[in-house]
Amino acid sequence: MHRRDPSQPRTPKAAPPPRMARLATLPLFFKLQGKRVVIAGGNAAAAWKAELLSAAGARVEVWAAEPCAEMEALAEKPPGGPVLLERQAWQAASFGGAELIVGAASAEEEARRIFAAAESAGVPVNVIDRPAFCSFRFGAIVNRSPLIVGISTDGAAPVFGQAIRSRIEALLPAGFARWVEAAHAWRRQLQGLTRGGRRRFWDGFATLALREPGRVPSPGDRDRLLSAACAGQVRSPETGHVLLVGAGPGDPELLTLSAARALRSADIILYDDLVAPEILDFARREAKRMLVGKTGHRPSCRQEDISALMIRLARAGKRVVRLKGGDPLIFGQAGDEIWALEHAHIPHDVIPGITAVQAAAARLKVSLTQRGGARRLQLVTGHAHNGRLPEDLDFGALADGAATTAVYMPLGTLDALTERLLAHGVEPERPAWAVFNATRPQERVIGGTLATIRGLIQAARTTGPCLLLLGRALRPVAQAERDWPQSTGAPGKPGTAHG
Ligand code: SAH
Repeated sequence: MHRRDPSQPRTPKAAPPPRMARLATLPLFFKLQGKRVVIAGGNAAAAWKAELLSAAGARVEVWAAEPCAEMEALAEKPPGGPVLLERQAWQAASFGGAELIVGAASAEEEARRIFAAAESAGVPVNVIDRPAFCSFRFGAIVNRSPLIVGISTDGAAPVFGQAIRSRIEALLPAGFARWVEAAHAWRRQLQGLTRGGRRRFWDGFATLALREPGRVPSPGDRDRLLSAACAGQVRSPETGHVLLVGAGPGDPELLTLSAARALRSADIILYDDLVAPEILDFARREAKRMLVGKTGHRPSCRQEDISALMIRLARAGKRVVRLKGGDPLIFGQAGDEIWALEHAHIPHDVIPGITAVQAAAARLKVSLTQRGGARRLQLVTGHAHNGRLPEDLDFGALADGAATTAVYMPLGTLDALTERLLAHGVEPERPAWAVFNATRPQERVIGGTLATIRGLIQAARTTGPCLLLLGRALRPVAQAERDWPQSTGAPGKPGTAHG
């Protein structure tokens, strides 16, 4: 065996990188059923903590000479464990044998005394809103009990913690609680399985719960998962599912909660080029993303090919998201895809999105159905299959002075459209607005009239999707305010009276 020469310096061995980065505090989930918890103080903040602790099943003792009205009400009707009012000030002796202590102190000196007494009783303590006198913290909670998420900023920014909680809450369907309850009930029935079998069971369980959080888990689900686990399959061999999902106009904040969830649980995402790249960040890292957009007019992106691909993937058991800009049912050619899915008997659903006209109106801060200005809102496309202005547009309806018109895909045929509208008697000064890249960083708004908007758009040399709005309900534009080059300029400047 090779022996080290003691005269040689020892070569330092590189320490392996730590498996876990540093933690400011350790999140623990404390079982409190029937345990004694002492609250020193009886104000509203103490009442809120007492409620939380009672909800967790604790036997809550409140030491306060004069508990506040909320505390009195809570003692009458606790949500879980009893809330007992001692009706006298706390003493160090009352802390002995408690599981946890919560203090509500009005002054620092009292906070210090509570903390010191708890420390000498050897009981973890939290003096509310006094981070220096806390050995544990509560954190914000997302409650889908028995599924519970705790959030801590280590006391630095509780309000920020609450805001993060709302985000997580929005992304965690309430139905997950039922799946975790089912997990509790089903655990006991797995004794006959091998280790690998149990692992397969829980993998399949997680896949199913993430797929269908809203469904109530049934004994049938359990049996299918059990037999798949015994047969060595991770997933149940059911067919996949296609969701047609609206990605909205661009800003990820405008995704619906359902759309964000669908993206999280997709195996594969087929997206159009109109979909903003930030939206795809909502997908799982492992999810496959495929651009099937149409601007390239590549042969592989023909409508039939997209439908065939969706069907093939769903039949292979994949969870497919067909992601379209705006709303999938507005100029999104979803009709053909839905028809194909129906005929192939593939389960499918539609998740709506915010369509371009809503984004553009929000940007302009105009009511598209302004009372007295617009009786009707009409959405049309400027682009027929052959790239021309659609022949079957109803120009009488478009000329209607009491309608607001949104023209999708207006750029290729704007000359023809303008001429036809003027020929149908539309006044040249009817307000016209073009919104490019609505809700995206490159957003640009160009305001004019039916007669001038063409030239203004050309002069602006802007690219990206553009929506044209026409109508008397829109604001007329003063000469100097025709072009607000970026999103910071507010269209509602003084002097631009609402028309
Ligand atoms: N389903 C989409 C529309 C698809 S058609 C929806 O509901 O919005 C494509 C056209 O939509 C574009 O040519 C443009 O006219 C419009 N559009 C889509 N996103 C847009 C955006 N962010 N800004 C302006 N127009 C947009």
